Parts: sequence; C-alpha cells; structure tokens
Amino acid sequence: MSGEVRGLRRSGSLYRNGTAFASQIRGEIRGKLHAETIVVGGGVIGCAIAYELASRGKEVILIERSRIASETSCAAAGMLAADSEAFHTTVMSKLAYESRNLLLQQKEQLQRLSRIEIGLQQTGFVTPFRNEDEMKKYSESRSVHPLTEQIWWDHTKLHREAPWISKETYGALYRASESELLPVNLARAYAGAAQTMGAKVIEGVQDVSLTVDSSGIQGVETSIGRLMCKHVVVAAGLQGGEMLKQVGLNLPVLPVKGEIAAIQYAKHDADYRPDKTVYADNVYIVPKANGEVWIGATSLPGRSDRDVTVGGIQKLFASAAGWVPGIQQAQFIRAWAGVRPATPDGLPYLGACKSIPGLYAAFGHYRNGILLSAITGSLMADLIAGHSSEELGIDELSPERLSRKEIMQ
Ligand SMILES: Cc1cc2nc3c(=O)[nH]c(=O)nc-3n(C[C@H](O)[C@H](O)[C@H](O)COP(=O)(O)OP(=O)(O)OC[C@H]3O[C@@H](n4cnc5c(N)ncnc54)[C@H](O)[C@@H]3O)c2cc1C
Repeated sequence: MSGEVRGLRRSGSLYRNGTAFASQIRGEIRGKLHAETIVVGGGVIGCAIAYELASRGKEVILIERSRIASETSCAAAGMLAADSEAFHTTVMSKLAYESRNLLLQQKEQLQRLSRIEIGLQQTGFVTPFRNEDEMKKYSESRSVHPLTEQIWWDHTKLHREAPWISKETYGALYRASESELLPVNLARAYAGAAQTMGAKVIEGVQDVSLTVDSSGIQGVETSIGRLMCKHVVVAAGLQGGEMLKQVGLNLPVLPVKGEIAAIQYAKHDADYRPDKTVYADNVYIVPKANGEVWIGATSLPGRSDRDVTVGGIQKLFASAAGWVPGIQQAQFIRAWAGVRPATPDGLPYLGACKSIPGLYAAFGHYRNGILLSAITGSLMADLIAGHSSEELGIDELSPERLSRKEIMQ
C-alpha cells in the first residue's frame, strides 16, 4: 500500500535482501558468529525494538521473511489513540500514554536518522455523540480514566471547530493530544534509523527456526545460514505463536481481520475535509499527512484472509457519512484489509520467556501496535539490557502470565 508522503525516500534500497545478498551476508556472519540480539519480524514492533537496542549501542540483527512492514503494520490506520481507545487495564492505558509521548519525542531523531517522514500530526480526536443518552452511556462504559485532558464541545462549539461534521451531532469530546501518523513510514523509519546506528536489517530471510539447548537460546537457523546470538526477540506478529510452538511454548494468537479504505477530497471541496480525526463508536475517519482520509475499520474475529468485501466497505462508508456527510463527494482511492494479532486476554505478550533463557516475546498488540511500538521498543531494550520486568512495570504482560495449561512444558 502507499501510505507514504510523496517525494520521500522509499525503502526499496534501504535494507539488505537476504536472498540477493546471501553470500555476502553469510560471509559477514561467518566472520562474526555472534550477534548479541536477533529480532525476528520486521513489523513496527520488531523495527522499534531494533531501533531502541541500536540506540543503546547494542549489536542487533533484524530479520524479516518478506519486506519491512509488509504484514499487519501496513494495514493500520496509524492512530495513536492513547486516550480515545477504551483500555480496560491501567497498565495498558499508562503504556499507551507513555508510548504516544515517546513517539512525539522520537520523531525528529527518527526522521533525521532514517530520512523518512513519518507523517505524525497532532490534530486531536473528536468523539461525537448523537444525543445526551449516548454520551452518558459512553462515559459510564469507560473503566479507566484518561490520562490527558478531554474537553466537552457542545453543539455550537463543535460546529464552529468542526464545520464538516453532521449538523445532527449533539456534541463531542475533544482530545487535543491525540495524534496519528503513516504506519508504514514509521516502521521503515525505525528500521532505517536502527541501520544508521549500526543494526543489520535483512529482508527476505526465510525458514527461520529457533535453536535452543538446555542452557537456553543459541540462535536461529535461517535460509541464509545459522545466526548465533545471546538473545532472540520473537516479534513476528500473527506468526509469533507458531514460532514459539517450535520450542514447546503455547502463546495463542487470535486473528481479527479489519478492512479499511482511503478517499481523497478534490481541491474545491477542501472546506469539507475533516482536519481532525473522528473517533466514533462505529467508525473512525483519519485525515492523513499524504492528503488522503482513511476510513476504518471492520472487525471480524477469527478471520485471517485479506479479502476486501463490498459489504464491509459499504458499512464503513455509510457510518462515516453519518458523521461527515461531505465524504460522499470525495474520490474513492483504494481499500485494503489486514489481520490484527489478538490474544485471549487482550494483552500483548511482552517480556522474557523465563523457561528458555535468552528468549523474548513481543507480539499480540491487537489493535494498538502502532501506538504501543515506541514503548514496546524501549521496554524490551531495557529488559534485554538487564532490567527486570517487575522493575519496568510490565510483569502483567509477561508471556508466562497465562495459566500453566496454556504453556506446554
Ligand atoms: C485495519 C487495521 C487498522 C489498525 N489500526 C491501528 C491504529 O490505528 N493504531 C494502532 O496502534 N494499531 C492499529 N492496528 C494494529 C496494528 O497494525 C498492529 O497491532 C501492529 O501492526 C502489529 O505489529 P507487529 O510488528 O506485531 O506485526 P506485523 O506488522 O505483522 O509484523 C510481523 C512481521 O513478522 C514477520 N514474520 C512473521 N513470521 C516470520 C518468520 N518466521 N521469520 C521472519 N519474519 C517473520 C512478518 O512478515 C511481519 O512483517 C490496526 C490493524 C488493522 C488490521
């Protein structure tokens, strides 16, 4: 997909390809048998971890079986909905808030090191309501209090600040700190910046399997040879669970398919283009830095295909037009689908797999992997550098938190 800002560096020649450079890479790896850490998976999570490790001066190799950000990370809407998202645990709400702040701080350095614009815009999110009842129900359903300010916009204020919103709208909550970005660019920027700081980023590495003995992780076998290391971080998104099965761990990942579409307003309709993200109960409408407006997303648990259905897109457009009628004049650009990696308890697996020293998991971020990428990278890098997860406050997300039944010995 093409969520990139025009005219910026693309990733085509950024990273090395495992097939094209197999002999060169093998030579390098033979000459240097031990990389401190290998990250498996070049989605936004793996790339953020590689970036944070490299920025701490750690030796890291990131291997991706296809291309950087070619799976779920390229399907996302790119919202950093730290306050608007209904997190049910304080730990997730706190991580989301910290992650959004960290991303805002990282932006300049990331873009400078990678020469990729991430399209980060802090335009604020509007959560609209049709009537007072709807607004009250919404407030009652929020179990965790937002960490940043939200302002109530009554009908008059809302229509002054957001003239493109339906006249039927009763009022809205406005959250000025909420932001969004171009997710593919973010993943590529993390990978590019990591590479600038000395990490190796290798695409097209197939047949990855974990090598383990009684003392713990030894490395990985791959289509470009055996890579030895002290730590392996499995950041393989949807495939994370399958990969850990190889070493007897059962960390289930549940697919939740989502469809999403891009539209564009003609220049003469620019006044009708939303300049803030609309984050409603049934749809979101996100104005992007590349000029498009993205409308998402369906939610289909148990589905892992990437088919885009007429019914799915029709439903999204109907909901979106209910809030922003002007979308009906906009031009349809494209639609796509991706599969969110969910877990049985809704929390990502984050931390050390203690039964196998040196092995770490970082996957299962469900619908918030873009938002949580910065904090995941930072926490995982700290953990690998020797801080305990209790100290980092992420023990609740430990891969071994699930019952013994779910972890096969
Ligand atoms: C429609 C939709 C909208 C979304 N909107 C948002 C949003 O607005 N905000 C937000 O925060 N999140 C959003 N998400 C969720 C977000 O996209 C995910 O949580 C996030 O992309 C997960 O990143 P990841 O790196 O874990 O997985 P992925 O991006 O899937 O990356 C995993 C990588 O591992 C690689 N891999 C797998 N197996 C192997 C192997 N054996 N060897 C080597 N490499 C391997 C894959 O090729 C892949 O590139 C959305 C998701 C969808 C589907």
